[in-house]
Amino acid sequence: MSPYIAAIDQGTTSTRCLIYDDRAQVQAVVQKEHRQHFPRAGWVEHDPDEIMSNTRQLLADAITRAGLPADALACIGITNQRETLVVWDPRTGRPWHPAIVWQDTRSREICDRLTRDGHARLFRERTGLPTATYFTGPKLRWLLDHVDGLSEAAAAGRAIAGTIDSWLIWNLTGGPEGGAHVTDVTNASRTMLMDLRTLDWSPDCLEILDIPREMLPRIVPNNAPGGWGVTRLGGASIPVCAALGDQQAAMLGQLCLTPGSAKNTYGTGCFMLLNTGKEIVTSEHGLLTTVASHLHGDSPRYALEGSVAIAGSLVQWLRDNLGMIETSSDIEALACGVDDSGGLYFVPAFSGLFAPYWRADARGILIGLTHYITKAHIARAVLEATAYQTREVLDAMQADAGAKLADLRVDGGMTANALLMQFQADILGIPVVRPANTETTAMGAAFAAGLAAGIWESTDDLSTFWQPDSVWSPAIDTDRRERLLSGWKDAVQRSFNLA
Ligand code: ADP
Repeated sequence: MSPYIAAIDQGTTSTRCLIYDDRAQVQAVVQKEHRQHFPRAGWVEHDPDEIMSNTRQLLADAITRAGLPADALACIGITNQRETLVVWDPRTGRPWHPAIVWQDTRSREICDRLTRDGHARLFRERTGLPTATYFTGPKLRWLLDHVDGLSEAAAAGRAIAGTIDSWLIWNLTGGPEGGAHVTDVTNASRTMLMDLRTLDWSPDCLEILDIPREMLPRIVPNNAPGGWGVTRLGGASIPVCAALGDQQAAMLGQLCLTPGSAKNTYGTGCFMLLNTGKEIVTSEHGLLTTVASHLHGDSPRYALEGSVAIAGSLVQWLRDNLGMIETSSDIEALACGVDDSGGLYFVPAFSGLFAPYWRADARGILIGLTHYITKAHIARAVLEATAYQTREVLDAMQADAGAKLADLRVDGGMTANALLMQFQADILGIPVVRPANTETTAMGAAFAAGLAAGIWESTDDLSTFWQPDSVWSPAIDTDRRERLLSGWKDAVQRSFNLA
């Protein structure tokens, strides 16, 4: 029987499990949501046990759905929501605290203190990251400060920590009976604790945050032949042999393997990564430097990462707060009613602006209103906002990397919108390419696992699995592009100082 791969995609709102065959064709998809807990303003938690039991259930369901016996699975690959922290007791597997989710801002004071004490530069140099609440290290400091007995337990080996990849791998490979306490290098690169050069925990960062190294997992490449351990399922033993953070997995799934290639994922927000190869590029424009991949037998590859905070969520806002559309996809038909936005610009700086501006004092604005403006123009301005913001992140990346992009590979929910994709190509001045398989995140985990298990020999074998489905080419002239962009930049300036 030919080998199959299970890809587990543990996301912020749900967990999915997909079964792939050796032609990278999806044989089954199952999905389950988990609860979001908001114990206070700015706090977001998940139940690690709920995530784990969903994962086990989905793995079993996916195999059944694919009509396969468990021993048909050659390997398991994992991709996950990044930065989310779990601390648990390795003797029992019991979490010490709910998982603190990446969106959670309770570590703000810790981050402010790091900046006040002049440590921001060291963190950026070592880890490629700004001192921000997103990242795992300050969350762990917060737990050590606030959970009774946790520091003592850590010293006594009764508390270990990890991001969601670690939590899943440890449990899937035996838990208290010898589960592997590892984290993959892309997840580790989001902790504010890993040195990008050594790919090991930075002694300086650990010291400043006062985090005991013995709590932390061993940092490993994205995949390992034979795996880090095996999962027992229906009498079979299946190696767990790949893990990557979700955005890095999408990058691999998009086969952005060469320096200068980039992908943008359009969801509630946008996440763009540009491959910078073996080079660690430090951003002058407020982007993050991160590990793109470290595949077995290859050298580590790096990336610049930039995000747009509000993209698809602005479409949801139009739907839920203004009731202008019934479903998100309705926006396309509405916006298609007009040829352009009629001079309208929507800057969705609802909670400030990220890269390349970093203005916490900015707020959302809709400008250029006249008697002529209709709902359709507003719908168009909403879609265009995502395209403009993407262009500005891309400009920052190209300036940092000194490279010019040939095209942009795209995925995510908003890429169903052809009007947006065309405008994106127009405003970037390069083609926008959507692959046939837009499940790029799970695909990346499956690629890494399949390479480890020897189903594919090298990334060259993967090239036929990525096929362009739609390509949008720029259809406006440079003059018009520049005029539109300068209008946007002017609008952005007007959003400052409003908070
Ligand atoms: P996430 O993974 O962040 O939950 P998805 O990739 O599932 O996001 O995309 C969902 C987002 O895309 C939502 O914010 C939704 O408003 C937006 N969206 C979905 N379909 C369309 C569409 N046809 N046009 C514009 N936006 C859309």
